[in-house]
Amino acid sequence: MASLIDRILGLFSLDLGIDLGTANTLVAVRNQGIVINEPSWVAVDRKTRQVLAVGAEAKEMVGRTPNRIVAIRPLRDGVISDFEITESMLDNFIKKAHSRALFNIPRPRVVIGVPSGVTEVEKRAVYDAAKSAGAREVFLIEEPMAAAIGAGLPVTEAHGSLVVDIGGGTTEVAVFSLGGIVVSRSIRVAGDEMDDDIINYARSKYNLLIGERMAEKVKIAIGSAFPLPEEKTMSLRGRNLVTGLPESIEVSSIEVREALSTSVNTIVETIRSTLDETPPELVADLMETGICMAGGGSMLQGLVERVADETNIHTWLAEDALTCVARGAEVVLEKLDDLSRVLVGLDRTSSSRSGSGFGNRS
Ligand code: ADP
Ligand code: MG
Repeated sequence: MASLIDRILGLFSLDLGIDLGTANTLVAVRNQGIVINEPSWVAVDRKTRQVLAVGAEAKEMVGRTPNRIVAIRPLRDGVISDFEITESMLDNFIKKAHSRALFNIPRPRVVIGVPSGVTEVEKRAVYDAAKSAGAREVFLIEEPMAAAIGAGLPVTEAHGSLVVDIGGGTTEVAVFSLGGIVVSRSIRVAGDEMDDDIINYARSKYNLLIGERMAEKVKIAIGSAFPLPEEKTMSLRGRNLVTGLPESIEVSSIEVREALSTSVNTIVETIRSTLDETPPELVADLMETGICMAGGGSMLQGLVERVADETNIHTWLAEDALTCVARGAEVVLEKLDDLSRVLVGLDRTSSSRSGSGFGNRS
């Protein structure tokens, strides 16, 4: 229960809901909606470790940096793989969101999403990063829970609901009831893996080396998980590995679907095995509410149809699938007292520092 002083401070502070995604970081301000939506990229000077650019500006540099600069995705696989860089990124975004305030207002309270099933050490790292970026209080929420709330699912009711959140680094499947997660799965197959599939396909079938950005473009433009009403083609530009020369090759959506099939099958299998483990009463509820898909990866063409086809359960794409987690975190901020049970606790004795070996900061 927040103290009176906290409540009064809360009236003036810009409290923030943050989706620290592996591909995109979003920040929502309580009662104002999303104010920051940028790729989770940081450009760093290799020698001095100085941060040179963050977000879209850093992503623009990918594959184009001179030797001295390196562009990093500090959360690539769904957990904080580079703590210091994550902290600088968060710090930068929080300050940017906070600078919108006209007055010198109190430091923000922050609700921040963490992937489900992360370790104590990883939770601690996110908590510490938000704290040292200037948060007054930090609350953690599991990302699928935030996604479900953002998508408007009745997670606190005595009725089952299911969310599939496919991001860049991880796919999370979770079944909710009474404000808790009943069954969940998290796998490291998601949008990035699909990009890799396309890169590998181009290399093995055409000897063509393409970049990550090219692969992602192809996936979004003509990638699919189910036959399309009208199959399409697109040109892949890269370097021929045999001649070493630039080359452009036409690929069809049928080929790209084939390239993506292993990743897509893994995701579908994960949803099926989560359903297998779900208690029968909740499965009966799901037949009614359906499966809600969120996250950028869920926007792959035909994926919603494919999941519906393989599970026999009505499946739908959340409205604004890329922003569900941030909007869910904002909803939680607005109703912290009512929704406190959806938050995850932090074991106060754990320390991220002992686990990951970065230096002391004061
Ligand atoms: P995260 O939560 O990990 O930051 P996001 O939910 O922001 O991830 O989703 C990013 C992923 O979604 C990327 O892999 C991106 O390529 C993919 N993506 C975005 N739009 C589409 C689309 N229309 N079709 C397929 N994949 C998409
Ligand atoms: Mg996400």
